[in-house]
Amino acid sequence: MSDINLFTAARAKKSLGQHFLRDERVVQRIVELMRAEEGDQIMEIGPGPGALTVLLRPLPWKRLLLLEKDDHYAAEHAARPLPGLEVVAGDALAYPWESLEGPWKIAGNLPYNVASPLIWDIVSRTPNLARAVFMIQKEVGDRLTAKPGTKDYGALSVWVQSFVAARKGFVIGPAAFSPPPKVDSAVVVFEPLPEERKPQHPEHLSRLVKICFQQRRKQLQGILRRALPDSFSPEKLVSLGIDPAQRPETLAVEQFQRLAEALFSGKNHG
Ligand code: SAM
Repeated sequence: MSDINLFTAARAKKSLGQHFLRDERVVQRIVELMRAEEGDQIMEIGPGPGALTVLLRPLPWKRLLLLEKDDHYAAEHAARPLPGLEVVAGDALAYPWESLEGPWKIAGNLPYNVASPLIWDIVSRTPNLARAVFMIQKEVGDRLTAKPGTKDYGALSVWVQSFVAARKGFVIGPAAFSPPPKVDSAVVVFEPLPEERKPQHPEHLSRLVKICFQQRRKQLQGILRRALPDSFSPEKLVSLGIDPAQRPETLAVEQFQRLAEALFSGKNHG
């Protein structure tokens, strides 16, 4: 397979989750899922040697922001300037997502070791996320898109699906990368939900899902009584149409949002 990168890859660093795409068709499919349009603001996370960046550079964007933790690759990209192209050498986990003004489309073949916390932050903190397309470990993709009552449904599913509609684009095996990872990968597409469907107080929802999914097999009433002894009563569940004997993994995303409001937005904070 010929080199599809913008420049030659250095030896891959395991600590930075470096598995470089080597299959051009896969890269094309990711970029197609971005649905880039004239005047877009696009961010790529972890451009590395640039397999995706090669196809992003000629698109009709207004701004293209490359965020790369590996100084070597950040410098390589900075050495290939274009009007509207900005390179940030930094850690995506520490990026101030709130500072992104206007609509942004975000893409990346993410380092698998940080994909979950990164997506947690991006969907909830980017003020006007227009679309995101991420290549991640397939198992994380299963959790992001999981429906209630399934084994993959957990805190990450509820949280992310409270801000965006997440759907799996396609799945690919290790051979599409160099060096090949040990696991399959999936591309997941995120589209923002209307504002009225997003949580009113994200901090309350975050607290609730963390409490609930530490003990996903227990009944809600038991979990909540233990965690919030002062404010919880089973009537709060009943008034929301939730059976106190239900287990967290059976609750819909909207039910978690309503429950978080009922538990934490009143006077009786637990
Ligand atoms: N985009 C390239 C490709 O598809 O071949 C590289 C993808 S590689 C899976 C992940 C990239 O993310 C690497 O370039 C790595 O250096 C970078 N990276 C790792 N951790 C990062 C972090 N915390 N913030 C920003 N970039 C990071």
